[in-house]
Amino acid sequence: MTEKRALAVEYLKQQRLLGGDSVIIETARRPDGQTAADAPVIEAEPAAAADDLPHAGMTFDPPSADLFATSPLQRTSSLADVAQLIAACRDCKLCEARTNTVPGEGPTNARLVVVGEGPGRTEDETGRPFVGKAGELLTKILAAIELPREQVYICNIVKCRPPENRLPQYDEIAACLPFLYRQIELVNPKVILAMGGTAAQSLLNTKQSLGSLRNLVHRFRGIPLIVTYHPAALLRNPNWKRPTWDDVRIAARLLAA
Ligand code: SF4
Repeated sequence: MTEKRALAVEYLKQQRLLGGDSVIIETARRPDGQTAADAPVIEAEPAAAADDLPHAGMTFDPPSADLFATSPLQRTSSLADVAQLIAACRDCKLCEARTNTVPGEGPTNARLVVVGEGPGRTEDETGRPFVGKAGELLTKILAAIELPREQVYICNIVKCRPPENRLPQYDEIAACLPFLYRQIELVNPKVILAMGGTAAQSLLNTKQSLGSLRNLVHRFRGIPLIVTYHPAALLRNPNWKRPTWDDVRIAARLLAA
């Protein structure tokens, strides 16, 4: 094996460990059928047949509000009511440095809910989720399955920006999740798309890696939930674009079912 080929194999192994798609590395064949060991061909595996849905994954069913709930959040009857409570929230330390809260946006009757990790700088400045380059990529991903962004409810696990874009911490996620639960309850979508490890792990109450959660149909309170990469990760690693496309097509098939 040449040095270049060994490096390529090592790189692809790492990508696989990080949750990237599987690859086949073949020795190239010349037209006469002879092998040329110095010229590796790297091919992606063919995508699954369009009508094959992945296996069932995890189920998470956190308790929902009952009729006699007294907390202000459980008594909200609209996404605007939830946004008002979020704007006033100081339940975790993320409130200290925020410019704006970022509750989420989209119609109450959305069929798809997209959940990311937390607001970044532009989101914090504008109060809107998934804006900037990652947001533009999300808009394109949705357009590719013929779903205008305006028809999707888009939000995050935490509603205030973590300093320096660090990952939200466990206590911050725990403090903020009731807002997301209520938003999902009010929208009652047909499918949830969890983008990134934090979104997937928080919604499924698990520590499993994003790579192991992909390509399965999970359930959140009975709603099918698909896990994929966060658009910001795709900007850093274009190698994950194709698996993301595969995941989004699964969501599209569930929406069409
Ligand atoms: S991140 Fe969530 S729980 Fe923390 S202050 Fe903001 S809205 Fe409240």
